[in-house]
Amino acid sequence: MDSNTFEVTDLKQWVYCPRVVYYRYCLPDVRPVTTLMAAGTAAHRDEGEREERRSLRLYGIKEGERSFDLTLCSERLGVRGRLDLAVAVPGRTTPGAEAVVIEYKDSERAAGAHFKLQLATYALLLEEAWGLPVRRGFFYAIPTRQVEPVTITAALRRKVVQTVSDLRAAVAGERMPDAPESRRPCVSCEFRRFCNDVV
Ligand code: SF4
Repeated sequence: MDSNTFEVTDLKQWVYCPRVVYYRYCLPDVRPVTTLMAAGTAAHRDEGEREERRSLRLYGIKEGERSFDLTLCSERLGVRGRLDLAVAVPGRTTPGAEAVVIEYKDSERAAGAHFKLQLATYALLLEEAWGLPVRRGFFYAIPTRQVEPVTITAALRRKVVQTVSDLRAAVAGERMPDAPESRRPCVSCEFRRFCNDVV
């Protein structure tokens, strides 16, 4: 596995539990694709097809150019990923245009810190790819069909850069990170058997 370029989902996971990312890079080939993960991927795919018929007004956008399933990679940042939906408002070549990042979420709960970091990471990747400012994004909750706006703040941007640096240090040093304070993520974690010290 290439430890110079991380995936956007690694950053999200790092906030949730850094050990999961550590296991992924330092103990490759142990992670099973669970039924739950496979179902989540299918829900995302279906939602993408529905999104093509949905109006941008849902996000408060009158006019925009949409790009679905956009593969993004930044060598400078050392991160790659696939964004569900990018919108250039009102268009990529319009003077003064901006871009907006949108992710689908298979959960009814408000986006936690890990989801916001994920969206901010896509914002940085998209800014570099399209050369347009990204100041905001949205989560679309698949179960409730509700939209949640997120401002891409300076603090979130700094957190993206810091998280990549922390990730790189952990993988290079191959030192197992501390477990999160809460044991809630451990309940359904597929790596439980490696964490005898905490569960
Ligand atoms: S069992 Fe808990 S501490 Fe260990 S990787 Fe899973 S979530 Fe993290």
